[in-house]
Amino acid sequence: MLLAVSACLLGIPCRYDGRAKVNDEVLNLFLSGVEVLPFCPECWGGLGVPREPAEIVGGTGKEVWEGKAKVLTKSGKDLTSQFKLGAKRVLEVCEKLSVSLFVLKEKSPSCGISLIYDGSFTGRVKHGMGVLAYILKEKGYKLKNELEINNICFKKGDINGY
Ligand code: SF4
Repeated sequence: MLLAVSACLLGIPCRYDGRAKVNDEVLNLFLSGVEVLPFCPECWGGLGVPREPAEIVGGTGKEVWEGKAKVLTKSGKDLTSQFKLGAKRVLEVCEKLSVSLFVLKEKSPSCGISLIYDGSFTGRVKHGMGVLAYILKEKGYKLKNELEINNICFKKGDINGY
């Protein structure tokens, strides 16, 4: 059983601001012996740490893949291709390994599974999936955010209740 996890939830400082967003439940899964694969699609797409914050403008992850929306930084730099490349690399690795479940950081333009920032850079969120989350859902993977993981019962080497 392999759990693929947004790396920032495990304490890896890969966020745009050079910080992590450690989640105790996710960390406990790892410390309990569950096999965990950390990934950061934005870093895997070639973006550095720290980096300028970016949001999806003109839609959600779905529209990014359809070519109808872009990922832009606050200053207007287009990072759409880097976000898509990072998502494809995560997908490629996870298809080779037998990932059972993804735990993704909510609100991220890459990893959000139900909420993302709305593209106004004002802190407001909207319903929708990030660039990575959308492609994973389309491939049929099971996705949870860091809040939902609190409700998952687990025992070493096995996860039940999702
Ligand atoms: S892209 Fe995902 S893994 Fe990387 S910092 Fe953002 S939320 Fe965390």
